Amino acid sequence: MSREWLVVVNLGSFAMIGIALVFVVLWAIDRSRVHALLFAVMIALYFAGNLVLSVHADIALLASIHGIIFPIAFLILVEGLLRRSGQQLGRTSAIAFAVVLAVVVWFFAYVTPLMVGRIIAQNLGGGVLLLYAALRLRASARRLADRVTVTATTVLGLALFVNVALAPFSEVPREITTDAEMDAYLASPLEIGLIVASAVLLPALLVTLLAVTIVDLVADLRYQRDRDELTGLLNRRGFIEQAQLTLKRAPVSTLILADLDFFKEVNDALGHAGGDHALATFAGVLRTAPDVGQVSGRIGGEEFAVLLPDSEACAAMEFAESIRERVAATSISYGGATTTLTASFGIATVEPLMSLPALMDAADRALYAAKAKGRNCTAVKD
Ligand code: GH3
Ligand code: MG
Ligand code: MG
Repeated sequence: MSREWLVVVNLGSFAMIGIALVFVVLWAIDRSRVHALLFAVMIALYFAGNLVLSVHADIALLASIHGIIFPIAFLILVEGLLRRSGQQLGRTSAIAFAVVLAVVVWFFAYVTPLMVGRIIAQNLGGGVLLLYAALRLRASARRLADRVTVTATTVLGLALFVNVALAPFSEVPREITTDAEMDAYLASPLEIGLIVASAVLLPALLVTLLAVTIVDLVADLRYQRDRDELTGLLNRRGFIEQAQLTLKRAPVSTLILADLDFFKEVNDALGHAGGDHALATFAGVLRTAPDVGQVSGRIGGEEFAVLLPDSEACAAMEFAESIRERVAATSISYGGATTTLTASFGIATVEPLMSLPALMDAADRALYAAKAKGRNCTAVKD
């Protein structure tokens, strides 16, 4: 390994500053994403730590400054990783970690000057911290983005352990004071391991985190776009998209449309906020229905839709009737007033080559028939 190569590596860590700026922008777009800001701070600290090591001054002093910056940078990285999944590191363990690592590094800088001692301590500390975070994240890692994050974190953590294992096989001088010592050090397996971890695997983790943060942001925006805030069900747009996907997969499906009965009167009795409460209550009944892979949404003011995949009209009839009976048996109270709530249901099964709009039309005609029959009942498209 030559010194020119070392310059290239340092330039690589400088390029990470660009990633830090993008993290800051992502945090500015959505301030609730504090982990994006933490990742930016981590990069800045890591870069500062690297700069400290390349300054010409008292080795022990520089090593001690680095020995404080480095664990804090890794603590912030891990705190960001945990915060992304709604967890936290805990102040006491974070402080304990930083203090222990700083003291060990200080010991190997001033009491028994030994560069390899500092390197082992820092790699061991960083490795333990990263693997601890990966273990905690693994439990809740379901989505691809979460699993990729766990893998990238584990790989870097393991690489730091490999560096610890490489130390006994490397002829590292006690301290680097001459050019010859520097050249010997640059050729050691330990230095190569350090370069791989800091110039390849750490940037790879940060690029992964950048991609994951963007994916999270887009997924959240899509979620909000497709959700009805009041009921938590899909909104019309989300329902249509999901229903269309379901119809492709399950061509024999049945659609149930529901419309709350005399809802204007519910609003009159409970007030508009009480009407909203009634809508949320109805949605709660839909949400707690048996899961048969249905797609449920609020497709209009007080209109709801449920698409039952792989179901014929009689199964849908049973489903709709159980919802209808549960709703009719629930009284709705709000602001001291109480009223009952009922709904009418229309059912239509997909026919060959039928589009979703045509299916919705057919179910709507059945719903109209249920209303005409006197409401609080279910009608099937004939
Ligand atoms: P019908 O049995 O014929 O369906 O009678 P209805 O009173 O339900 O009739 P209609 O569908 O014409 O009225 C729906 C009412 O639902 C009108 C509107 O004020 C109310 N509504 C629509 N969206 C909301 C909402 O988000 N919150 C509340 N509280 N009321 C809503
Ligand atoms: Mg209505
Ligand atoms: Mg209506």
